[in-house]
Amino acid sequence: MGPGQRWESTKRSIYLWCLAVAAPTVPVVMWLRWEEEPLLRATYGLLTVVLLALFLGLLTRQLSAAFAERTVVTVVPLLWIVRMFAVLYLQPDLAVAAAAVNQSIGPGFVILAIVAFLALPARQGLLLSGGLVLTCLVLVLPRVTGEFLRVGVSLEVIGLLRVGVTTAVSVALLFALATLKEHLAREQAHAELNANLARTDQLTGLANRRAIVERLRAQLALADRHGRPVSLAVVDIDHFKSINDRAGHLAGDEVLRGVAEVMVEILRDSDVVGRWGGDELIVILPETSAEAGAATMQRVLDRVRREVVIATAPGHLAGDGPERPVTLSVGVAQRGPEEGQDRLISRADRALYRAKQGGRDQVTIDGVELAEV
Ligand code: GH3
Ligand code: MG
Repeated sequence: MGPGQRWESTKRSIYLWCLAVAAPTVPVVMWLRWEEEPLLRATYGLLTVVLLALFLGLLTRQLSAAFAERTVVTVVPLLWIVRMFAVLYLQPDLAVAAAAVNQSIGPGFVILAIVAFLALPARQGLLLSGGLVLTCLVLVLPRVTGEFLRVGVSLEVIGLLRVGVTTAVSVALLFALATLKEHLAREQAHAELNANLARTDQLTGLANRRAIVERLRAQLALADRHGRPVSLAVVDIDHFKSINDRAGHLAGDEVLRGVAEVMVEILRDSDVVGRWGGDELIVILPETSAEAGAATMQRVLDRVRREVVIATAPGHLAGDGPERPVTLSVGVAQRGPEEGQDRLISRADRALYRAKQGGRDQVTIDGVELAEV
């Protein structure tokens, strides 16, 4: 399970717990306050239906956490505004209206703002919850001003102001948190990209020398622990200098990329292919004997000979005139007991030297005479 799926599953559990508490509470409050305002029944009734549907949808996995978030941030604000309007303008007693805003609309609004910042990018979260604060302010102001002109500063006026300030400050702080979260996510993505770049060969996209050394160390430790074989192949393109000289450096680059592509395609996912430097590549073959490794590398050789070609006439591109196949020489060595990576690489190198000496375009195993391969 990736971090994205884990976060989705965590959110689903948190939302289920919240809905399990909220969905039964809303109808209970509605029933207790049945006589107070007629619109409360409508808004609380609708809210109950929405919360219950979301609870069941999440529980049966018919709905995603993201869908639940989107529903909450679109449906609930409308109910909230309707209720705010009803409380402020259909309720003649300001004390009752202020109590409703203080005890239910205000705290509910903060929950809504949190969901908005969880569901949306920071700016959109700010737009939605900030817009709601402003709408509520516009609704509250005429009533508060009227009251203020009539009786001066009353407890109700102070109460309404307090809710306004608390919600506005909550939105600002939530925006700060959401911005921080986005900043950290960007930094993390950047760090991951840099870590990848530091271990990747830019031309071929293969592991670079540093990554090969790290992966080889890890593979040798693993092989030690499980007593399993591991082999190493050093691959060198034949007459690469003359490919560059005749077809140009860019064509040479293309050949390197072509060889890398074939190797990635043929080798197992558990094998490690990297560019050791220049026209030399290294393959780590875990769980593989030298003979099996040599057979695999022979398949790579055959495929490269068939598929990677260069134009032989100067100024031409491959596919545009006479062509010559690209060939490889490969040295394979199986790791000996307790053998370190430097010695293993130098034995594979020695085998590669013999492959070059033997006429190139072949695979040689260290310690095995050519006739035996
Ligand atoms: P051999 O068959 O003995 O291997 O002959 P060779 O010509 O391949 O000799 P060598 O391996 O010494 O030559 C490597 C050449 O690879 C020399 C260098 O100019 C070229 N080279 C190294 N890095 C790059 C690169 O990134 N792109 C290109 N196009 N050429 C490179
Ligand atoms: Mg070479």
